[in-house]
Amino acid sequence: MSQNVPPLVIGIDLGTTNSVVAVAQDGTLTVIPVNGQSSMPSAVGIDPTGKLVVGQAAKNQAISAPENTVLSIKRIMGTDATAELGGKSYRPEEISALILGELKRAAEEHLGRPVTQAVITVPAFFNERQRLATQDAGSLAGLEVLRIINEPTAAALAYGAGQADTAEDETLLVYDLGGGTFDVSVVRVENGIVEVRASHGDIHLGGDDFDEALTALGEERLREKHADALPAAAQRRLKSAMELAKIRLSDEPFATIREEYLTPSGHLETEISRHDYEQLIEPWLVKTLDCVQRTISDAGITAHEIDKIMLVGGVTRTPIVQELLLRTLGMEPRHEINPDLVVAMGAAIQGATLAGQPAPAILVDISAHTYSVLAVVGGDFMGDLLGCCPVVRRGTPLPVTKADLFTTGVDSQKKVAVKVFQGESDDPSQNLSIGEFMVTGLSKVPAGNEIIVQFHIDLNGLLTATATEKRTGLAKSVTIDTAGQHRINLDAARTNLAALFEEQDAAFPDEDDDFQDADIIPWPSGETTAASASEVEAPANSAALLASAKSLRNRAGKLLEQGVAEADAAAIRASLAAVPVAIDARDWDQLCTTLDTLSDLLFYLED
Ligand code: AMP
Repeated sequence: MSQNVPPLVIGIDLGTTNSVVAVAQDGTLTVIPVNGQSSMPSAVGIDPTGKLVVGQAAKNQAISAPENTVLSIKRIMGTDATAELGGKSYRPEEISALILGELKRAAEEHLGRPVTQAVITVPAFFNERQRLATQDAGSLAGLEVLRIINEPTAAALAYGAGQADTAEDETLLVYDLGGGTFDVSVVRVENGIVEVRASHGDIHLGGDDFDEALTALGEERLREKHADALPAAAQRRLKSAMELAKIRLSDEPFATIREEYLTPSGHLETEISRHDYEQLIEPWLVKTLDCVQRTISDAGITAHEIDKIMLVGGVTRTPIVQELLLRTLGMEPRHEINPDLVVAMGAAIQGATLAGQPAPAILVDISAHTYSVLAVVGGDFMGDLLGCCPVVRRGTPLPVTKADLFTTGVDSQKKVAVKVFQGESDDPSQNLSIGEFMVTGLSKVPAGNEIIVQFHIDLNGLLTATATEKRTGLAKSVTIDTAGQHRINLDAARTNLAALFEEQDAAFPDEDDDFQDADIIPWPSGETTAASASEVEAPANSAALLASAKSLRNRAGKLLEQGVAEADAAAIRASLAAVPVAIDARDWDQLCTTLDTLSDLLFYLED
């Protein structure tokens, strides 16, 4: 390699179900596609022609040729157990090396240069032998493993922990629920050092269990109509369909499964609701929450001392998982970085640091608020709904489409009013009402008529809310500009403030009016103002504008006294200096613009 090619260290999340490779280069982080996908199944197989296949091709044949396919090798890493493949035995290091080799190949193809160094992640509970086995697998794949780091540490790094500009000490809880394993860790960031304080888990708990439970439910429903036993291959096909249904249920209240010829005469067409699915998986989720409590207590802290919860693993997209954590720990989990990719991203960040490159910050567009629905009819709540029901939660990456199920509360209910709220409370009076619409002409059926409410929010913050009567498809929607909702009505606010100042002046007539002090704003004299008032007509809200200027000037003065970065101080001073110039010139539009700029500056700089 030529002397001036900078060193490149890839980051690898070598997962039980899926593996991911990423790289940070010139301050940009890239998840490297493997055969067009951001993650690759951790599967190795020998195909019917005797060819070695790794990744998706191997996973595909796991259904038809399980004896020639190895899955979940990570479960036996660092043990003497072996895996059988095409009639031969292989050590877990060897199988893992094939997976790592495929990731290395994809990275080299993507980057157009050889890759020889890597950071690989392992679960925090991996012992020394398991870590060494992972390192050996890397060597076998032709990779110098510069560092083995813990998966929760990598997740914390991806969320910016330990970076020079976020020098805060904090305690993080990383909840990782993947396809095959679950683990939870308390991570402490102190003086820029990220350290796992306690970790627990279950290497046999994950999305696979949920797929199996759904498969059993599907079989049960099939048996109601067709008595034949399900052949093994059909069972695996059903499991695959159920995994897709599980994924759909994270965004939709129902999933329909259609599988033909599971048995010679047995077709399955069934629907599973999110509610039924949540009940099905509840025992496993309760187990994970017990683990969370144990880990917190082992770390010697209380739940109140946790600053952030981070989600890792595809299954954490399941809404009930996030809700249970919120309910148990009283804090909204962070999920803005793709939970399937966050660990590899952290490994790549560590790799960049080791290669002497700047660590990139990961930027994602997220929903700044929770958007919920309160659906009412004639003053009655729909069903037993008593408050705002979140459909899209704060911190969700955009664009997003999510739907939830509501039901009518009375028999033969002809219409529902769907009210959309922005805010974090379940009490509508604490949130901002941002829109509402009516769906009329509903079917004449008993209470419990199902209405699906779907929110789609695009990258510009446009929220489209759609309500659909499930049985007929009757639908109505509205689009709301949520970005517009964040802005305060400046004129109203200025009038409000002016009233407040007038009240203050009336109540404390003898107080010094520091508004007139010209230490920061050289204020124009009253005479000039009066004289010019006849020349240039002042707008109706001029008093409010002046009051607003006074208030902003006081706030700016306080900030400058407290001390802010030089660039910010300069920006504040420039705005302050522009205020009297605009007043002198009777340029009310310019005054408005200047006050807006100043107000925005202060908003971002004040705590
Ligand atoms: P991981 O081991 O982190 O790659 O997670 C893989 C698991 O996440 C598999 O069981 C997937 O079926 C599951 N998964 C992926 N996406 C979703 C989703 N949107 N909702 C629920 N589970 C998901």
